[in-house]
Amino acid sequence: MFTVKKRQEVLALLKEEFASVKLETESVSILNADGRTLSQPIIAKENIPEFRRSTVDGYAVKAEDTIGCSDSLPAFLKLIGETKMGENTDLNLNTYETVYVPTGGIVPEGADAVVMIEYTEVFGEEIAVNKPISNLENIVGIGDDVRFGETVINQHEKINTQQIGVLAALGCEQIEVFKKPRISIISTGDELVPIGKPIKLGQIRDVNTYSLRAMVENMGCEVVQYTHIKDDFDLIKNSVDAACKESDIVFISGGSSVGQADMTPEIINSIGEPGVLVHGIAIKPGKPTIVARVNNTAIFGLPGHPASCIIAYKTVVEPFIQSNLLNQEKEKHSLHASSDFQVHVSSGRDVFYMVSLVKSDRGYLAQPVHGKSGMITLLSNSDGYIEIPMEKEGLKLGETVEVHLF
Ligand code: AMP
Ligand code: MG
Repeated sequence: MFTVKKRQEVLALLKEEFASVKLETESVSILNADGRTLSQPIIAKENIPEFRRSTVDGYAVKAEDTIGCSDSLPAFLKLIGETKMGENTDLNLNTYETVYVPTGGIVPEGADAVVMIEYTEVFGEEIAVNKPISNLENIVGIGDDVRFGETVINQHEKINTQQIGVLAALGCEQIEVFKKPRISIISTGDELVPIGKPIKLGQIRDVNTYSLRAMVENMGCEVVQYTHIKDDFDLIKNSVDAACKESDIVFISGGSSVGQADMTPEIINSIGEPGVLVHGIAIKPGKPTIVARVNNTAIFGLPGHPASCIIAYKTVVEPFIQSNLLNQEKEKHSLHASSDFQVHVSSGRDVFYMVSLVKSDRGYLAQPVHGKSGMITLLSNSDGYIEIPMEKEGLKLGETVEVHLF
C-alpha cells in the first residue's frame, strides 16, 4: 500500500525536487514566437512612435490660434504645405499658419495640435477652422506608446498574438525563448488499441495518448514520442528508460492502481534514482497517480480512466510545467459561475466535478455533468471543472464557484 499525499504537498515536493532543473534556451523568429516563453525580457531599443504622429486626417495648427473660433466666426489660417505619409518634413509652423497632415503623418515643428478635417473648410490658400482645439489633441508624442529602454514584455511571459505586433513594431526579428519542454507519452494496457487498427470485443481504443498530447501541446510543449504498449514489465521498462533519456517529462498512462498488472512503481524504481516520490494523491478522481524523478526527468504515472487522467494532469502536471519548468504565473483560464447543484462530500480528498456552463440572467450557471466512471462523454460534455477542497463539506445551491475551463 502507499501513503496518499495532499495535492499541495505534492506540488511543493515537485518544486523542491526539480529546483535545479532548467530548460535550455534558443532564439526563434517572431514568425514562430506565438505561445513561446521568453527567457529574456523584451526591452525597447526604439521609441514608438519615433516622431510626433497625427491620429487624424486634418490640419496641424498652433492650438492658441483657434481660441474662440466657431461656425460663424472661424479662425483663418494660411496653408503652407502638407506632410506626406512615410516621409520626413522640414516645414515649420508660424502663428496663423497650418499644414495638412494625413493620419499617421508627421506633425511639423511649431504645431501642437491637429484639427480634424471635419471642422475645417478650404478657402483657396486659407483654411477656416470652426472649432477650437486644445494643446496636444490628436497627436501621439514621441515614445508615448513605447518608450526607449522600457521593459515591454517580462521574462517568463508566454508570448500571445497581441504581443507579436509589439515585437514587430519594435523591430525584434528574433527573440530568446526557453526550449519547449520535451514530453514522451507511454500508454499501457493489454486492452488498448491505437486509432487505425481494428477493434475486437473487450478491447477499447487508446484515448489518453491523444488527449495528453493535445493538452501538453496546448501548453507549449513538444511531444517527442508517443507509444502504446502491452502490460509487460520489460517492454514498459525499456520504453520508459529510452523516453527518460530524451524527455523532460514522461507520462505512463494506465497501470497506476494497486492491482496485478500495476507494476509502474517497480518499473520506475528499476530505472534510476531517486525513483518514485509519491504514489497516491488526495484528489478525486485521480488518486492512484504516481510522481517520480529519474535524474532530471519527471515521470508521472497517470490513472487509465480518461477523466481521472485528465484531472490528474490538470491539477498536478500542468501546474508543474507552468511554475517549475516555464516559471509562469498561473494562467487564468477560469470564470465564476453560480452552482446549479448541491452535493455533500466528505472523502478526505480534493474533489473535482466536471461541469457544463449555461447562461442565465444571473450570469453563468455551473451544472454537473453526469456519467458513470470511465465514460468519455463526461469529458466531451463538460466545459471545465470545479474544485471542492477537502476542508469543505460540499457545495450549496447558488454558491459562487470558480470553473477551470478546459
Ligand atoms: P488502469 O489505470 O490501467 O487500471 O486502467 C483503468 C481503466 O482505464 C481501465 O478501464 C482501462 O481500460 C482504462 N484505460 C487505461 N488506459 C486507457 C487509455 N489510454 N485510454 C482509454 N482508457 C484507458
Ligand atoms: Mg491498465
